[in-house]
Amino acid sequence: MNLSFMEYDDRLILRKFEYLRISVTDGCNLRCLYCNPEKREKISSLSKNWLKPDEIKEIVKLFTKFGTKKVRITGGEPLVRGDIVDIIKLVSSVEDVSEVALTTNGIFLRYYARLLKSSGLTRVNVSLPSLSDVRYREITGGDVETVLDGIRETIEQEIKIKINTVAYGKELLDEIPLFIDFLKEFKVQIRFIEYMPLCVGGYKREKFLDLENIEGLLIDKYGFRKSEYNRYIRSGIYTRDDLKGEIGFIRPVTRQFCDICNKIRISSKGELIPCLFSSKRLNILKLNEKTEEEILRKVVLFIKSTYTKPDIKSIIERDEIRSRIYEIGG
Ligand code: SAM
Repeated sequence: MNLSFMEYDDRLILRKFEYLRISVTDGCNLRCLYCNPEKREKISSLSKNWLKPDEIKEIVKLFTKFGTKKVRITGGEPLVRGDIVDIIKLVSSVEDVSEVALTTNGIFLRYYARLLKSSGLTRVNVSLPSLSDVRYREITGGDVETVLDGIRETIEQEIKIKINTVAYGKELLDEIPLFIDFLKEFKVQIRFIEYMPLCVGGYKREKFLDLENIEGLLIDKYGFRKSEYNRYIRSGIYTRDDLKGEIGFIRPVTRQFCDICNKIRISSKGELIPCLFSSKRLNILKLNEKTEEEILRKVVLFIKSTYTKPDIKSIIERDEIRSRIYEIGG
């Protein structure tokens, strides 16, 4: 049986959910200003009532019936879980899963990269909002050199890697030369990401940076050229002949791409989350339906009933922020 959403609702044609993101914890070892500005949820005080490895495997198996092929493990910070290697092994053992990816702040990556590779991990996205020691510490509370060591080790292990840089404040424009130098050393793709209203009580409008500013600088001042166009993020990818890596842009605020979104999220408690901006939840572990077919139908009906396109700009303007990305899984 392989049911697609198309059979249930034409509006969902574009959302076949090939891509499942599972948050394995809502705890984190950093306190990034764009993510957790309230500085809540110290790991030691969390209930740690997180999905167990075998529950994660069962959920992934269920979603392969919807056509899920790619699974991203996220959080919170997934590498704070002592059983993360078992989780990756179990997920990569699921038939039909061809890619297991991880999103991490990279602090523990230098210890884990080798183990993660041998567990079946295929890709890592590392969050790196700044390359300046001082600014990285201001934004995250952590040490940037530790992350750079983790990136080196990940490349050494031949795991594919992308860098996520949330554009937090216009100060980032002064760092563009640092990011260009970084691409001389590392063969990676950096993706600058627009700062989204996903942090209750702490969104700072003045920190929003329109990525046109960076794109303009790269082309006009630093001689970058477009090497390709990525239709999934609706962005040009830019590079220069002397660089090993490249730069792309993710603009969920100024060029919203909800219509081509193919992601579905599961929280660390096992709740299905239809969209980063939705407060609707369906706990997959608590479903009473007996057959797989009935469970799938329930999931589809839930997604159908919650299918709306958020207007991200007006969420910012009206200050209607309800989501905490570290709880949902970014
Ligand atoms: N701890 C991991 C990390 O730092 O990558 C995984 C969780 S984090 C919530 C996942 C992603 O969300 C990161 O790439 C981070 O940059 C992004 N993110 C967090 N807050 C954001 C915000 N307000 N706007 C845009 N992206 C955000």
